[in-house]
Amino acid sequence: MEHIFLLPLSRVAICGGTHGNEMSGIYMIREMQRRQVEKSSCVSITTVLSNPPSVDACRRYIDRDLNRCFTDDLLSAPITDSTPYELRRAQELNAQLGPKGSKEAVDLLVDIHNTTANLGLCLIFYCFDWVTLHIYKYIQSKMTSVPVRVIQLDIPLAEAYSLESVAKHGFAMEVGPQPTGVLRADLFNMVKEALDLTIEWVQKFNSGNIFEGGEVETYCLTKSIDYPRDPTTGELTAAIHPELQDNDFKVLRPGDPIFQSFSGETVKHEGEELYPFFVNESAYYEKNIAFHLARKITISVPSLSVKKE
Ligand SMILES: [Zn+2]
Repeated sequence: MEHIFLLPLSRVAICGGTHGNEMSGIYMIREMQRRQVEKSSCVSITTVLSNPPSVDACRRYIDRDLNRCFTDDLLSAPITDSTPYELRRAQELNAQLGPKGSKEAVDLLVDIHNTTANLGLCLIFYCFDWVTLHIYKYIQSKMTSVPVRVIQLDIPLAEAYSLESVAKHGFAMEVGPQPTGVLRADLFNMVKEALDLTIEWVQKFNSGNIFEGGEVETYCLTKSIDYPRDPTTGELTAAIHPELQDNDFKVLRPGDPIFQSFSGETVKHEGEELYPFFVNESAYYEKNIAFHLARKITISVPSLSVKKE
């Protein structure tokens, strides 16, 4: 099988609080800053609280969702007095950690998120990134107490909208279920373990370790499903069905229940077999998303080692 050489990953950024009410990342960043974790062996580590005013307010965002502000268009939009806070902040973060697509960008960016959905631990990334897939393989092989999965978004870099897209390699670390504004120790520990394993992988990679390739299962976002709504008022007419609730990544077959209307009727899944995730994520009500659907695919990952400069 193919072998890939990549340059060392000497600059790593760990971010939290991109959404100001997702507590695991916020407290992880504060803890890392308290312990002054800035360097680990040959890796320099930058910790960033991405959206401080929204953290202070314990809200997802102030003016608009920061984690949708990192497209090329928005990062190059002129700033005026009426520019929403998060657009200005996205450009600041891009200057600090990017610029996106440049050789000055940090080598690896991990952005910590929480979800109210029963996701376990998920790494979310764009397109094919061998670094992320190898880190995923590594975390999955070491963390056996929790389901570890990877979600792939097929979006070109210019349209990639989230913070990790400003780095050369990056992923969102999505951990749940945890209500917004709430901190659970079990999930905090999960984030800590996954971050430690990520740094450990980077150190091994930089020091010449050869990571064997192999087959990796990923979930590729296919489509998003909205709640049934009243066509005139837009108000919900149904909730997630009890049989779907908390069953992220359990295959949905045609005829399986997905919604239960308030008058008691069941809405069923139609079409092909797909895997639901972000089921009943609280922040997605405003985005008209009840859950996402993914196709499960297997990717052959090449072996990987560092290219000596
Ligand atoms: Zn988030």
